[in-house]
Amino acid sequence: MEERWVLHCDCNSFYASVELLAHPELRQKCVAVCGDPESRHGIILAKNEPAKKLGVKTAETIWQAKRKCPDLVLLPPHRELYRKYYRIINTIYQRYTDRVEPFSIDESWLDVTGSWQLFEKSPAALADRLRAEVKAATGLTISVGVSFNKVFAKLGSDYKKPDATTLISRQNYKD
Ligand SMILES: [Mg+2]
Repeated sequence: MEERWVLHCDCNSFYASVELLAHPELRQKCVAVCGDPESRHGIILAKNEPAKKLGVKTAETIWQAKRKCPDLVLLPPHRELYRKYYRIINTIYQRYTDRVEPFSIDESWLDVTGSWQLFEKSPAALADRLRAEVKAATGLTISVGVSFNKVFAKLGSDYKKPDATTLISRQNYKD
């Protein structure tokens, strides 16, 4: 039987990354997107890598986040913009398979069992190509898990971030 191949594609720090496209000067600073930046009870919706390193967590209050990271830059969300990038990115995915299953605004599974050979020499090479195309088209990075089922593909996309491909095969999945 032909091996099934599933890619799980996950945008890295999606809301924060989209906001930073418009604010490149903030890229090295700690940045979070939050519900109501004026209120210390507002909730952190997303954070960039520098903020994550200082322990800022999604769903905590601004007040909690600021204790860990006093210089945290707070930006309001632009949900229409997130939907726009969601559409651009999923249109790229659809070039490579008609079996795209969105899981959330920034994560999708792609079943490429019947199509990867048309494009690349391996499913992981196709994952690399998707990363490059998403980055070229949007300036955003994705992490891609490549595996023989959806669960391991999702574990794979979580394993290495940002902008990485992780292959979980029948040979290495036990590790
Ligand atoms: Mg994500």
